[in-house]
Amino acid sequence: MKWWERPVRMMRLDYISDLVRMKEADLDALARSKRDDWNINCEWVIGTPGIAPGLGHKVTFNTSKYEKYEALGDFDLIREYLPHARRYGIKVLAYLNMHWFSYEFAEEHPEWQQRLADGRAYGQVSPLYGGGTTFCVNTQWGEWSWDLIREVMKTGIDGVFLDGPVTFSGCCYCESCRKAFKAQYGTDIPEEEDWFDDRWKNFIEFRENSMAQYLSDSKKAMEDINPDGVIFLNAGSWHGGSWRVARNIEKVGDYQHFNGAESFFHPSNTTGTKAILEWALTAKHLMAGGKPAVVFSHHALGSWHYIPLPFIEAQLAVAQTVACGANPWIAIFDYALDHSREQAIAPIKEIQGFLAKNEEYYTSTLSEARVAVLFSSQSNTFYLSQLDDIYGDVVTGVERDLGVNLSSGTITRDWKKRKRVCDTIQGSEFYGWCVMLSRGHIPYDVILDKDLTSEGLAKYDVIVLPNSACLTDDQISALYAYVKDGGNLVASFETGSYDEKGNIREENALSDLLCISKIEGSMGTVVAEEYLKAKENFGCLRDGQFISKPLYSLKIVVGEKAAIPIKFLERIGKFYSAPKGESRYPGLVLSKYGEGNVAYLPYLLGTTYTNFKIEDHQALALATVKWSKNEDFEIFVDAPPTVQVELRSQNVEEDKKRLLLHFVNNTGDMKRPMSTIIPIYGIKVVLPGVDVKRIYTLWDKEELNFTRNESGIEFILPELNLYDVVVVE
Ligand SMILES: [Zn+2]
Repeated sequence: MKWWERPVRMMRLDYISDLVRMKEADLDALARSKRDDWNINCEWVIGTPGIAPGLGHKVTFNTSKYEKYEALGDFDLIREYLPHARRYGIKVLAYLNMHWFSYEFAEEHPEWQQRLADGRAYGQVSPLYGGGTTFCVNTQWGEWSWDLIREVMKTGIDGVFLDGPVTFSGCCYCESCRKAFKAQYGTDIPEEEDWFDDRWKNFIEFRENSMAQYLSDSKKAMEDINPDGVIFLNAGSWHGGSWRVARNIEKVGDYQHFNGAESFFHPSNTTGTKAILEWALTAKHLMAGGKPAVVFSHHALGSWHYIPLPFIEAQLAVAQTVACGANPWIAIFDYALDHSREQAIAPIKEIQGFLAKNEEYYTSTLSEARVAVLFSSQSNTFYLSQLDDIYGDVVTGVERDLGVNLSSGTITRDWKKRKRVCDTIQGSEFYGWCVMLSRGHIPYDVILDKDLTSEGLAKYDVIVLPNSACLTDDQISALYAYVKDGGNLVASFETGSYDEKGNIREENALSDLLCISKIEGSMGTVVAEEYLKAKENFGCLRDGQFISKPLYSLKIVVGEKAAIPIKFLERIGKFYSAPKGESRYPGLVLSKYGEGNVAYLPYLLGTTYTNFKIEDHQALALATVKWSKNEDFEIFVDAPPTVQVELRSQNVEEDKKRLLLHFVNNTGDMKRPMSTIIPIYGIKVVLPGVDVKRIYTLWDKEELNFTRNESGIEFILPELNLYDVVVVE
């Protein structure tokens, strides 16, 4: 195996503008500390700094081709440090800031700058980090940067990380882009965001393809010097609206050795319970790219860079990441070590020491999840719902000061604002489904649009399509074939209603599969005092039980074959008024197609859960997934929903594999940053259908007793602190 295919633990020790601190350091002690204190095996050393006023053009190493960072004099920061890192088994990558350049440097190359539609340079209109500008991948700047990559590789390092380039929102309309676009598409770039203009959609694609081409050329430049080197960039994540910065792992993945993305913790009122699985989800999304993944978690208290991230958050970031098969990465600021060295090192030393000691259990592992949630980049990019009334104010009926939050009755007509609503929907619907599955201890993977093929789907028993609105005809055919042959499907809201470019289809392309005979419209944005009603016992939901109405619901008519265990009640329309009885609209549609089960939820259950976290919605989601699978899951865990369970495996000998049950205990003190983890005792685990010789924990290497009964192998994990792995051989 190549080193980068094995478990990697990365860090960047950051000196900001005081790179001279590294020059003055005892380099041998520094490298030794990286190994012994931080327990890393791969390090980023600054090649071109990301500091004010935009010094991406200054280098820290000696070359006649580029301007040196003055304070270092003739000290070659990379060449001087490299032998020390090598001595302690640390791979060295150069960090190259590829997106932040000073106005002064840009003046020498005005034609390199990214430009807005009106011709102004991006950095003049939106100064980067308060001052500075940015360049375009389609200009001669590309050649300049590839030469830089060659020069830095000549120092003997193992590869490069490119921080950028970033195609900024509203860019790029430079001469090079205008020419290249016209040559490719035969038209000019449209001057404005317009989702009803194919040229705009081409422009979105052009931006992403330009980035992929740039990375491909960068990789070649690196390989000119070292064919075994590695390269990657900050590839973006699963959040809604990532199209704005042309980030798409499906486009760049082919040209990099790692898929990496930022997942920084920031204390705020919205990163409370909402984002508790942020690192796990970033890891799963990156792993879906099918290559080694790295989750970048800052080891800083959000924007207070000179205070280390609190102990528990720092460990959870690493634990969630590795539990999902990805590699951890931290950045720590040298100034923080002046006053908080022990505090900063303690959490990382402990958890990464554990990883270093148990490296074999993290090598070549595979997910054993049989449920997959689609992250549809097509939908994330092109979904713009054509249902008018989802663009009204969301009415939740919160009572405050003796008043009730009521709708203004206005519906946004502005398509740009509508697109933002849809971006938020895509991110939150995906996130909500993932969180609900995790809380139900149902192991799941994330898959990408490229996996909607017979081969990609065959690995899974259940596919969840969280408002996967924009699908190709081939993807639609693959889904029909998958279910016909016994695969199971759970889909929500407008899944299948648009083509891959967001053009509305005359009829929902999955309507036969989902058992929809007609979509009559949507139900507006009022959820307060409106309800679903269970018509039978379904999972934990009781016959007759009211369930709060989810956000953005569709009025649908279904085919005769469908079972409808839940219905919408008639609209009440007022607070403190009596319920009005059942409507004719289904609240959950269950059907069979060929050998498979299909569940269709005509609303955004994931978005609703992300917003309100109502237990009945989670119960509904879990019952639906369980119904569709119609047999036991691979694991049953009796633990609080905050215990994250990831099921992985690895082959130990030919025909022999062992299971790796990762338990991350996210049970904290009901606030972020967490200050305490509540240990969980006596977690019962059942594994149906496996043959077991030995079960033990990795943290204390404790043997666990187990029993065999009709439901499978059963054992108790006596105590779970923040993280452990149970090995089942
Ligand atoms: Zn350009």
